[in-house]
Amino acid sequence: MAQQQDRKRQRRCIACGQQETKAALRRFARAADGTVSFDPSGRAPGRGAYVCSDECFQAARRGRKLERALRVKLTDEDYDRLAGEMARATDETPSV
Ligand SMILES: [Zn+2]
Repeated sequence: MAQQQDRKRQRRCIACGQQETKAALRRFARAADGTVSFDPSGRAPGRGAYVCSDECFQAARRGRKLERALRVKLTDEDYDRLAGEMARATDETPSV
């Protein structure tokens, strides 16, 4: 039988395609009403998309990959909001 404990679930970064465990990625979730938010818990219901770094978030933004992954329309304001949510949650970007 498969050894579940040894098999960490891997997810793929939508920008660079690198596979990581869920814990190493940042998740964005699309709620039932179509709202996309950063999901620091990684457990929000709905369709999710993952990026592995801030750079990949920016790349996903430039390439509109988040929209394709989540099948939604996202405006610049949406991306700004998501970037802000991610920065606050990960606390890697010192606010100036
Ligand atoms: Zn990546």
